[in-house]
Amino acid sequence: HERDLIARREKLLGPAYRLFYANPLHFVRGEGAWLYDAAGRPYLDAYNNVACVGHSHPHVVAALSRQAAVLNTHTRYLHETILDYAEKLLATFPRELGQVMFTCTGSEANDLALRVAKMHTGGTGVIVTDWAYHGVTDAVSQLSPSLGSGVLRGGYVRTVPAPDSYRSVGQDVAEAFARDVAAAIDDMRAKGIKPAALLVDTILSSDGVFSDPPGFFAKAAEVIRAAGGIFIADEVQPGFGRTGGQMWGFERHGLVPDLVTVGKPMGNGHPMAAMIAKPEILKAFGRASRYFNTFGGNPVSCAVGMAVLEVIESEGLVDHTQKVGAYLREKIGRLSDKHAIIGDVRGAGLFIGVELVRDRKNLEPATTETARLINDMRERGVLISGTGPHANILKIRPPLVFSKENADLFVSTLDDALA
Ligand code: PMP
Repeated sequence: HERDLIARREKLLGPAYRLFYANPLHFVRGEGAWLYDAAGRPYLDAYNNVACVGHSHPHVVAALSRQAAVLNTHTRYLHETILDYAEKLLATFPRELGQVMFTCTGSEANDLALRVAKMHTGGTGVIVTDWAYHGVTDAVSQLSPSLGSGVLRGGYVRTVPAPDSYRSVGQDVAEAFARDVAAAIDDMRAKGIKPAALLVDTILSSDGVFSDPPGFFAKAAEVIRAAGGIFIADEVQPGFGRTGGQMWGFERHGLVPDLVTVGKPMGNGHPMAAMIAKPEILKAFGRASRYFNTFGGNPVSCAVGMAVLEVIESEGLVDHTQKVGAYLREKIGRLSDKHAIIGDVRGAGLFIGVELVRDRKNLEPATTETARLINDMRERGVLISGTGPHANILKIRPPLVFSKENADLFVSTLDDALA
């Protein structure tokens, strides 16, 4: 049956989509941290940072169906849901970040942030990290070097190495990052390009999950601002409590971004995203543009988003994530005594990166071994993925409702697979 589905996909959807695994999974149901395939086999989901409050959470499902049964419409009419949700969402941000514009995907939110940054600064130059991913629109894919050669990068983009706490032990990564950003600005200016923004994913998900030491973005933010540009935090991956102990990844860096983009977990699977802004940054864009978004901020999305925030609050998921994340990281760390391939265990909350190396001295990336391990974990019923320019870093991002028991099962399965 799976083979039939794959053949139909290829015929109907064309050649551009890739599925996970050589032997793709076919899910029919999800609940909490578990997904169930067509044969009824359960899989522990440690991959999915979309279903943040758990797959098909009843409170979210109820809010969605309640609103869908009453009204969903174009967003150029007045409706209260958008205001109630905007208030609730903005209350999770520092006071300076006082306005929000809704979109449907993270890509669109970043695309909008790019436009706003250009209008506000009068510049066009954008700095991103070496292996960043920020989305798929034509403009934003140019800011996503991890998409590789399928993208023609515009001349206004500069890349800088991510602050790598593992490969630069003993160095001041904050200082090095700020220096690289300053050099990128000099290079732009030498070619007549005015800087508009430094855009970073605050946990550097696709660069390899770099979280330490907290605060390493603050100096670079000063550098870009001194050059007339703004600091944009892409919270599509780390946002909504995932880093544990706080709602937003940038909070670990002791700074307030000028713009923030959010998405993925915002609707627990319902497509919704947003850009949060300091009001003064939105002024020039507001005067000049005739922006509208047919679906962004529609009544159903706002009801869903509200329900997600309610569950994060009522189930205490921000604290839970910090506790269970620390527990899981510690237990994975202990596996490194036994398995020499584990070079580094890092991350924050329930966003964990495990870097696999062939040799702890020269740190040669264990790329093929990582792919084998991810596949082996899948055969054992646990879902994870890989990241980083050498695809040798396990990316572990379970739903925030991941329990201690789930963490124990995860670690024992990882232990067996590594063996
Ligand atoms: N930014 C980051 C950091 C992401 O990881 C992603 C999606 N993986 C996006 C933006 C784009 O979001 P979307 O797929 O919803 O367009």
